[in-house]
Amino acid sequence: MTIATKLRELRARLLEIRDLGWAGAVLSWDQATYMPVAGAPARARQLALLSRLEHERMTDPALGRLLAALAPYADEHDDDDARLIAVARRDFEKAIKVPASYVERANALGSASYSAWRNARPNNDFASMRPYLEKSLELTREYVEFFAPYQHMADPLIDDVDEGLTCATIRALFDELRRELVPLVASICNQPPADASCLHAEFAERPQLEFGLKVATDFGYDLKRGRLDTTPHPFCTKFSDADIRITTRAYANELSQGLFSTLHETGHALYEQGIAHELAGTPLGRGTSMGVHESQSRLWENVVGRSRNFWQHYYPKLQQEFPEQLGKTSPDTFYRAINKVERSLIRTDADEVTYNLHVILRFDLELELLEGKLAVKDLPQAWRARYERDLATTPPDDRDGCLQDVHWYSGGGIGGAFHSYAIGNILAAQFHAAALRAHPDIPNEIRAGEFTTLRQWLTENLYRHGRKFKPAEIVARATGEPMTIKPYMAYLRGKYGALYQLA
Ligand code: ZN
Repeated sequence: MTIATKLRELRARLLEIRDLGWAGAVLSWDQATYMPVAGAPARARQLALLSRLEHERMTDPALGRLLAALAPYADEHDDDDARLIAVARRDFEKAIKVPASYVERANALGSASYSAWRNARPNNDFASMRPYLEKSLELTREYVEFFAPYQHMADPLIDDVDEGLTCATIRALFDELRRELVPLVASICNQPPADASCLHAEFAERPQLEFGLKVATDFGYDLKRGRLDTTPHPFCTKFSDADIRITTRAYANELSQGLFSTLHETGHALYEQGIAHELAGTPLGRGTSMGVHESQSRLWENVVGRSRNFWQHYYPKLQQEFPEQLGKTSPDTFYRAINKVERSLIRTDADEVTYNLHVILRFDLELELLEGKLAVKDLPQAWRARYERDLATTPPDDRDGCLQDVHWYSGGGIGGAFHSYAIGNILAAQFHAAALRAHPDIPNEIRAGEFTTLRQWLTENLYRHGRKFKPAEIVARATGEPMTIKPYMAYLRGKYGALYQLA
């Protein structure tokens, strides 16, 4: 077989693996949007079957032989094909380390734990989740051993979602970030709080959704290759490079959550829609890591969507949509309301400044659980202590405490679940600063409701490459330096310093 034939066979095998994954994504999307509840048991069975088939193909020894035969080509070349072979080999090597029996046990625990959590959270019943969490921790430790040796137990988990990052790197980054954020939050919270009452009125859902979708398409979201539906928990999903969907929600009594959820998911979708067509259907045809992906949702949601420039164009339009509710609210009052900083209990409701403190404390608790320094039974107490220390607030119960996030209770493992959110915030500012250095006119364009230059810069420097470069490579190539919190802190200090008149 020639190299070309082998490459063709490799691409065909990889596309089948992707198609199985995408078929599963269609079923999951349908389950979250339109499926009647009674469809759940059959849907769970079908999803399990697809995921088993996908795992079988990913670990097929014939794929391993093909990749081994192609390996010399990857070592000698540095083009798209060489990258494809290298990335596919890496995925294969990782997949074969995990036995199918483990995958099945982990999936089974994940669905049982998730169903239990859906009842336990509203009932504030941590005791009933304790055995699930203990079992999850055990399975996580078992998983990590497949990848021994490692420096820290969390390293293999982190590497799964953010290739190349380690626990040590993140710890150092988060320590630095926490040192900067705690006093910044304190000085903001010493000021009179912003008045966000304008966001709480009766807002019909339909115009909320339409307004969000209009902004999404202005950002560049292509509806010929996408659509918007509603779900309680918004997400972005992909069925092929020509079908990338988002979901959002709208609350009748609160305006900002639905709108910013739409902008957030649009950011994820713009990344996926911007990937070069040549990479479609291969392991290179998706975003390079969770952290970099999250940087794009946060960039469009916060850095653009919560900026004064953006609302200079869109606020009059929003007022037209809701004349009774917002007609008398000044642009400045609205801008302050959507950027209100407060020490709160719920991560997903947190503002830009306090958000990372929610993430950092979860990351620290995960490490303590993994290292055996914290027992599951003591988690609620440890959680309260950290909220008291970092955010000067104590959850009244576990429902709004350590039961609030689905991550630990849905089988994803403990460790490596939360850090990407903070990495996303840091990188959003870093990418945005680099785009502004290249095109200082971007803020003026945004003031006119025009986003082409920004989107094109992101497409050119980030989106089109998909997973061709590792996260650290793409950050260095696009921004000229390794990941750093400096642009992020400068962004926060500039924006919130002005908002809260800090010295
Ligand atoms: Zn996101």
